[in-house]
Amino acid sequence: MPLRKCVACQQMMAKRELIRVVRTPDGQIAIDLSGKKSGRGAYLCGKLSCFKLAKKSKALDRALKLPVGIDIYDRLEADFVRVEDEYLATRDELYDDADDAHGQ
Ligand SMILES: [Zn+2]
Repeated sequence: MPLRKCVACQQMMAKRELIRVVRTPDGQIAIDLSGKKSGRGAYLCGKLSCFKLAKKSKALDRALKLPVGIDIYDRLEADFVRVEDEYLATRDELYDDADDAHGQ
């Protein structure tokens, strides 16, 4: 199972437990729920507390190797809140599927 490190709390976690933030080749910074967009990526736990920590410590600046403006952090935080529910719901579905498989 591929492991990645959360740039905020430095914990190693399974890739699917983390939310990827990507810096695209044209310099956009966005949350990448698919995990497949090209560009330099940084991973965060799927927790708003970790996003806030990353914002405070400017962890994304270091991970993405460019200065991330406060306005971009604010925009990402809004996106993060929006995708968090969706992301957690998807993850729960994955776990439900796994449980079903074991039950058979
Ligand atoms: Zn974290």
